[in-house]
Amino acid sequence: MKVGVLALQGAFREHREVLDALGCEAIEVRVPQQLESVDALFLPGGESTTIGKLLDSSGLRAPLRERVAGGLPTFATCAGLIVLASDVLDGRADQEPLSLLDVAVRRNGYGRQVASFEVPLRVEGLTGAPFPGVFIRAPVIERSGDGVEVLARHDDRPVLIRQGRVWAASFHPELSGDLRLHQRFLQQEVAA
Ligand code: GLN
Repeated sequence: MKVGVLALQGAFREHREVLDALGCEAIEVRVPQQLESVDALFLPGGESTTIGKLLDSSGLRAPLRERVAGGLPTFATCAGLIVLASDVLDGRADQEPLSLLDVAVRRNGYGRQVASFEVPLRVEGLTGAPFPGVFIRAPVIERSGDGVEVLARHDDRPVLIRQGRVWAASFHPELSGDLRLHQRFLQQEVAA
């Protein structure tokens, strides 16, 4: 199994470190050719407007859309979730999301005072201790479509969702020191 991490901007190294710790073969994806060989993909957090621009300049926008729409297991975190959403509220005027997840997200929706925080999350199907939810200027999922399954909530809002083989978190599992979500996603969507 070869796992790609979109490495245009943001917290891609941290995802790599988790994948390394899990013993997966992980590669950084910066050009379309690298995307062709992966069996799963992580989209990191960072700055969604910058990632969007770099998707255009790298030529990755169309191939990424095609592979994810074609069923590539994909896990998007924070800015990655914004990049995949169908609607972005409080986005930049020129921000064009990929429309691969039937959700509306509000950028930085948790507000300035609570821009960064950590809360324990109960995640559907995850046994043991609650998962440490690290939120950093996180998007709020304000609407999710019928095909979207909610795997965790915070304050009555979805914070971990799944639509087909695409998972997305408004928080940062790669910064939590807890490998269980990466592991579970790979076991469920790729190893099976
Ligand atoms: N606020 C950032 C954005 O709009 C996302 C923050 C993050 O990924 N930690 O892209």
